[in-house]
Amino acid sequence: MRRRLTWQAARLHEVRDETATARSLVFDVPGWPGHVAGQHVDVRLTAEDGYTTQRSYSLAAPADGDRIELTVEAVPDGEVSPYLTEVIEPGDQIEIRGPVGGWFVWRPENEAPVMLVGGGSGVVPLMAMIRARRQAGSRVPFRLLYSLRDQDRRYYAAELRRPEPGLDITYVYTRAAPPGAARPAGRITLADLAEGGWPADFAPDCYVCGSTGFVEAAADLLLTLGHAPERIRTERFGPTGD
Ligand SMILES: Cc1cc2nc3c(=O)[nH]c(=O)nc-3n(C[C@H](O)[C@H](O)[C@H](O)COP(=O)(O)OP(=O)(O)OC[C@H]3O[C@@H](n4cnc5c(N)ncnc54)[C@H](O)[C@@H]3O)c2cc1C
Repeated sequence: MRRRLTWQAARLHEVRDETATARSLVFDVPGWPGHVAGQHVDVRLTAEDGYTTQRSYSLAAPADGDRIELTVEAVPDGEVSPYLTEVIEPGDQIEIRGPVGGWFVWRPENEAPVMLVGGGSGVVPLMAMIRARRQAGSRVPFRLLYSLRDQDRRYYAAELRRPEPGLDITYVYTRAAPPGAARPAGRITLADLAEGGWPADFAPDCYVCGSTGFVEAAADLLLTLGHAPERIRTERFGPTGD
């Protein structure tokens, strides 16, 4: 039977800056039931006058007991994300409901090679999968293709720089490539996915996440490369972006 989701109090424990515009937030959620990599939560904010608003945020890591982690990008003029990235402080409380989602998930018992394709903050649930793989000691080969505007937008930079057996990462810079980069800046192409991904013959499970435009473009490219539609799982975060 499906568990009924209810709103739970979540107290901010710690924040970590990822970039100038994004930060990771670690919340204590007493009684957290656990979750699977790729799932998300709904976050509800309530103003003093009783006005409430809610948004979805992916879980960025496996749960650590009652502790969960999100990574939020500030959307200019947004209602919720600037609060989470600039205002909320350790000790403050919000409400969370979840975990939500049963399709865009990766479990360590899955044996197929994995192709992760993330644009901007779309890398968040993919990072949860990378961390779940590491925590489980899984040897399933992973490839991550991470599309971002420029180097300064890179989340989890130190963690992703550390070599990890069986995890290959390709960065695609859309606005400014680092000095000396072989690939000029530009949106993700067929060649990027052909070189940084798995051949369709390997039948990888593909997870694509980012803005709606990014997800549609990347999923179309994967289909063109011959990947089976039922092996391409997508999660759309919002209207625009990288
Ligand atoms: C399943 C799911 C998981 C998500 N996980 C994450 C996550 O892990 N990290 C994260 O940062 N965001 C994530 N998002 C996006 C998040 O839910 C919000 O949409 C985002 O934070 C903007 O909310 P806001 O209230 O700040 O902006 P709003 O007030 O809703 O919008 C302000 C303006 O920004 C535009 N906009 C809205 N969303 C986006 C967006 N994603 N990108 C660019 N422009 C946008 C709107 O069209 C509007 O013009 C997720 C969305 C979904 C559906």
